[in-house]
Amino acid sequence: MRCPFCASVENRVVDSRMARDGRAIRRRRQCEGCGDRFTTYEEVEAPLADVEKRGGLTEPFSREKLTRSLRLACKKRPVALTTLTEFAARLETMSSARARKTVTSQEIGDAVLAFLRDLDPVAYVRYASVYRSFATIDEFTRELQTFRPSSALDAAPGELEDGEPVDEAPADAAPSEDGIPRHESGIGLVEPL
Ligand SMILES: [Zn+2]
Repeated sequence: MRCPFCASVENRVVDSRMARDGRAIRRRRQCEGCGDRFTTYEEVEAPLADVEKRGGLTEPFSREKLTRSLRLACKKRPVALTTLTEFAARLETMSSARARKTVTSQEIGDAVLAFLRDLDPVAYVRYASVYRSFATIDEFTRELQTFRPSSALDAAPGELEDGEPVDEAPADAAPSEDGIPRHESGIGLVEPL
């Protein structure tokens, strides 16, 4: 580490202590060249962000958990698994890059909704039905009507980007006119974050 004052690389640690809630080590260094002191921090590379839940509890960001709920929402939908894992990785990186390394479960939920909305209407509604805890069927229906015209419903699996499919889509999983597969309610499929 070069001295910020004289650029000498010779220095010694004069003090070392825990910082940032134990996530970093703070070191006071004294330059052997000019004698000035400066501070360095050492921390684990790209530490995971904390997810702050509604009740105020926090837990480490879990890419696996996020991917699991995305897969559930996209079950039997023509969505490539890599699309989901890449999104989860992107969200993890974004969260970790924050100064406080904290993201709320609501921010994650909103990001997932925005992502699914463009990706697949059925997955979006499944996720939204849990995440927003629709109170009434009217609310649910209104949400369905907010969809932009999307090619996602019309696209055959073969027309979508390459990648491992999330699940095999049997013929009976074809969405009905309102976009909800008839053989399941779509509610309760997604693990809330
Ligand atoms: Zn110096």
